[in-house]
Amino acid sequence: MLCFLRFAHIAAAVAVTIGLASPVAARADDAEKVVNIYSSRHYPSDDQIYQLFTQKTGIQVKVIQGKAEELLERIKLEGESSPADLFITVDAGNLWRAEEDKLLQPIQSEELEDNVPANLRDPQGRWFAFSERARVIIYDKNKVKTKQLSTYEALADPKWQGDILVRSSNNIYNQSLVAAMIDSIGEEKTEAWAKGLVENFARKPQGGDIEQIKALVGGEGTIAISNTYYFARLLAGKDEQLKKSLEHVAVFFPNQQDRGTHINISGAGVVVNAPHKGNAISFLEFLVSPDVQRLLTDINFEYPVRSDVAPNAIIAAWGTFKADSLHVSALGKNNPAAVELMDRVGWR
Ligand code: FE
Repeated sequence: MLCFLRFAHIAAAVAVTIGLASPVAARADDAEKVVNIYSSRHYPSDDQIYQLFTQKTGIQVKVIQGKAEELLERIKLEGESSPADLFITVDAGNLWRAEEDKLLQPIQSEELEDNVPANLRDPQGRWFAFSERARVIIYDKNKVKTKQLSTYEALADPKWQGDILVRSSNNIYNQSLVAAMIDSIGEEKTEAWAKGLVENFARKPQGGDIEQIKALVGGEGTIAISNTYYFARLLAGKDEQLKKSLEHVAVFFPNQQDRGTHINISGAGVVVNAPHKGNAISFLEFLVSPDVQRLLTDINFEYPVRSDVAPNAIIAAWGTFKADSLHVSALGKNNPAAVELMDRVGWR
């Protein structure tokens, strides 16, 4: 009997060791092999990631997709009986909203702390980035010379009147860009900048980032503001005619001489009443595993958060760049001020 107990004890110790060593191992506290994910991401990489997780762990992934604000509202309404385990979204502004509404819980994970840079995760462990995207200048090389470009700030120069293509201010990517500028140069200067930028708009904002690039190719403007992965997606796409016309379109990383190019994230956090907290942590750790980091960059052209995973060749071809090292939580904190400021200057 003594012998059996001793064996059981050793077996338990081994199981714990394996659990720590392998980021994808299911945790003992979740008897049910399910994880419920509420995701606002809309990218083709994600279904593959869910399938791969199930293959590796036997944990079934159930996904509810929606807009970030709708999902957060749903979690609020469901309250303590919410089935949501993990909230996945894009943009630090959305994670900050979830955090403010107390919908996420702090977790501890060496795996996440070791692999996610400190400025891309909540210090209390309520959310972690798993990919990065840069918000860059995409320009028409036939009409704009590289040396004419420098910073986001310089896009407000009257010399760019009628040149700038950018989506509306109701989009969080722009809100976060403005929030980052508020942090860097203050609200007053940011407002003056935004006013100048609006005066330079090639057209009334319409469509997403891809539509700005297409309008650039169509000759409606000479400079578009876009997240990197959208441009990469077009370069890797099947529209040969569009790809041909993109040959004279290039990426410029702004603010290389000062704070660096604005970076945003995809990120996730464990929901406050998660019924399968262990599985949610396992999934979150899985997102920063080398295999998934490679999928995120190869299928969706995002930048890995892990420094030991190389970006996909299409985005790597644009070169390395200095990224703004601002803690991304500032994008959430400054969001209300950014939204009001954009409204005041007529960026709609
Ligand atoms: Fe997007």
